[in-house]
Amino acid sequence: MKPFTYLRAHSVEEATAAHARLPGARYLGGGTNLVDLMKLGVETPAALIDISRLPLGEVEELPGAGLRIGSMTRNSDVAAHPLVRAHHPALSQALLAGASGQLRNIATTGGNLLQRTRCPYFQDVSKPCNKRSPGTGCAARDGVHRDHAVLGHSADCVATHPSDMAVALAALDADIALHGADGARTVPVTDFHRLPGDHPERDTVLRDGEIVTAVVLPPTTPGTVSLYRKARDRASYAFALVSVAAVLELDDAGLVRRLGLAFGGLAHRPWRATVAETRLMGADPTAAAVDEAVRAELAAARPLRDNAFKVPLAHGLARDALATLARRAAAAPGAA
Ligand code: SF4
Repeated sequence: MKPFTYLRAHSVEEATAAHARLPGARYLGGGTNLVDLMKLGVETPAALIDISRLPLGEVEELPGAGLRIGSMTRNSDVAAHPLVRAHHPALSQALLAGASGQLRNIATTGGNLLQRTRCPYFQDVSKPCNKRSPGTGCAARDGVHRDHAVLGHSADCVATHPSDMAVALAALDADIALHGADGARTVPVTDFHRLPGDHPERDTVLRDGEIVTAVVLPPTTPGTVSLYRKARDRASYAFALVSVAAVLELDDAGLVRRLGLAFGGLAHRPWRATVAETRLMGADPTAAAVDEAVRAELAAARPLRDNAFKVPLAHGLARDALATLARRAAAAPGAA
């Protein structure tokens, strides 16, 4: 085992200052992914800065049913929060679809966003992997890649992002609040995770030493409905083969006024379906219109040898999710 320094930070400023003076330091939240990767030898931090006790564990209500969720809030607490369940049910459903109850009790909101891919070659230090060791190659491209990407992948990496929560946040138009040496900034969650390109070792746009301090959900209006659906190999404690999060609001004429649609399990980041959204905005979300819009979105898919099944699976999940939401929105205007 590689020795490392451990210290506990009591403020965000103390944590970022410690990170700046300790080369090779990593922040420790719930540790449910980082500690596993340390045991595998994938992560070898010189120092762990424990940020789990920072005062970032609250859910604050904002005007219009918006929410500011502190980054140290536990996944189980967010999933069970009455305001999340009432106004942003897709987020609660996504969290409950992820991991096990024990893990959700310790995993944090910030850590959920920053978890690494579960590509088996990334987790096996004896195998080539551009994400773990840039320049060594991608063993998954011609290897075992049934769970891997069909959209947005590159010659260097075909991994997917594992978070269910991030997919819901993408559909919900959430922002990520960050704090670093240059102060505070906010990034839309759809811009937070990267596609792999030539640098698959970088999962996000997080700058060196920055801390995720909160997730901010925008205001929502009565009548907006949302859900999260996940297809996986077994009923619990499994990552998504494909998932979909959808948010829908109809106007008085039954036409789409707001639509957020995002896929998980298809790409290196949550895949916001902007092509489908553009086609459906202002339209009557009939089965035929939804089918055509989702088909147009997935036309960009480039499946690998063994994962072409993900494209029709994603199509069916999105079509069923939007049909369900359209019925709910039309039948219960004013409901969340
Ligand atoms: Fe590594 Fe990405 Fe290839 Fe997996 S898909 S082996 S994470 S480079």
